[in-house]
Amino acid sequence: MNILVINCGSSSLKYQLINSASEEVLAKGLCERIGIDGKLTYQPEGGEKEKSDVSMPTHTEAIDAVIKALTNEKTGVIKSLSEVGAVGHRVVHGGEKFTSSCIINEESIKAIEECNDLAPLHNPANLIGIRACQELMPGVPMVAVFDTAFHQTMPEKAFIYGLPYEYYENYKVRRYGFHGTSHSYVSKRTAEIIGKPYDEMKIIVCHLGNGASVSAVDCGKSVDTSMGLTPLEGLVMGTRSGDIDPAILEYVGKKENKNIDQLMEVLNKKSGLLGISCLSSDGRDLEDAAAEGNAKAQLALDIFDYRVIKYVGAYAAVMNGVDAIAFTAGIGENNKELRKNVCANLGYLGVKIDDERNNVRGEERIISTDDSKVKVLLVPTNEELAIARETLALVK
Ligand code: ADP
Repeated sequence: MNILVINCGSSSLKYQLINSASEEVLAKGLCERIGIDGKLTYQPEGGEKEKSDVSMPTHTEAIDAVIKALTNEKTGVIKSLSEVGAVGHRVVHGGEKFTSSCIINEESIKAIEECNDLAPLHNPANLIGIRACQELMPGVPMVAVFDTAFHQTMPEKAFIYGLPYEYYENYKVRRYGFHGTSHSYVSKRTAEIIGKPYDEMKIIVCHLGNGASVSAVDCGKSVDTSMGLTPLEGLVMGTRSGDIDPAILEYVGKKENKNIDQLMEVLNKKSGLLGISCLSSDGRDLEDAAAEGNAKAQLALDIFDYRVIKYVGAYAAVMNGVDAIAFTAGIGENNKELRKNVCANLGYLGVKIDDERNNVRGEERIISTDDSKVKVLLVPTNEELAIARETLALVK
């Protein structure tokens, strides 16, 4: 069966058509500037990437353009829409309602809408993508795969904040965690690569991209993760602050005469690597600048590494041990210095990294020495494939 995987944002949409039997990506691409002027990128397997201007006043025209590209006589990879067996949608927030993926129907759409409050930038956009697909592909089964679902196994002591309990009862203020599809996929792959049963292993996954989070996966279940009510908590990220003393908001708010919306904008968009370095949110830019002696760029990278070290240490403590640590996403897969620096501080756990094996980008492999007590791995994440697998499992 061919499965169309859709990751829909407010003005963009990423897609992949995956053959579920071979797990091959038949075609992929993205729609950008939806509601503005519209740009479609399309790349068939083994073919050239094409970029074209397509009018996309709404997401419906964007998805229509994707379908036309997939079925194009010359460059398409399928003859007609009937060759799409199912659609898998990434949905950011499933609140406490969704502990796993679900078939999309009117009832589940209503439940997703009820989570909009928790992710006002993301969930409404995800739902627009779902509605547009329903309109253009009536009768094709669809599945929602949630970023939060994998972390719903966290125990209460990990997800309740030190706040008045009524905030949880009244407003569902708690830690949810994100990147769940990636943490689930990478932790499972880690167990497979090592060749031990998933449900007997203690695994720490470091998903380090623009957004970044660490999770503790004990016997196949997420027991803690660094993001919280929103993706702002935890590690220092590209532009997000991660953990800070909440009293800073009042202090800086008064000094700079900023209201809460302006302060949140600073924490989400102007902090993290960008804020510290005063240069860039992109790890590559900072590596280049640091190599040329830029001290703030180096400091930003050091703080990034340091925060990862702290979370890995915390999660080894939470699980009372760790069998494997996996690095994934843009920075985790590409930055060997980061992996080396983090592992250099994990000697107390019995971590020994092999410099030769670590000298690699984006390739699935073990990077610890044979006698390392804890295995360290590089596992490229593949959220689209994970969504396609979840979709297949539910529509079969
Ligand atoms: P997201 O999906 O959260 O937007 P990614 O997982 O694509 O982010 O990660 C983006 C980060 O990965 C950026 O900081 C970027 O510098 C880093 N990155 C991506 N590719 C490379 C590379 N080849 N070398 C070093 N860093 C890279």
